[in-house]
Amino acid sequence: MRIHIDQDECIECGLCASTCPDVFEQNEGQKANIVKCYQLGGASDGEVGEPLQKCAEEAAASCPVEAIDTGD
Ligand code: SF4
Repeated sequence: MRIHIDQDECIECGLCASTCPDVFEQNEGQKANIVKCYQLGGASDGEVGEPLQKCAEEAAASCPVEAIDTGD
């Protein structure tokens, strides 16, 4: 499953990283990133396999500004 973070929309709240720390990271004062090992060509794009899809989708649903897209 592909994941994209719209970093222009991200308000740095940290919810995605607390909901699904295996896939998302967000450091104080910075936009959310995909963790390095799942990145695809940049910190705001990634791909995860089936075991992490559910938590990535929960993180996307938790984002207050809907900045995370988990489309294919
Ligand atoms: S939940 Fe959304 S707004 Fe909050 S850090 Fe993650 S991407 Fe940014």
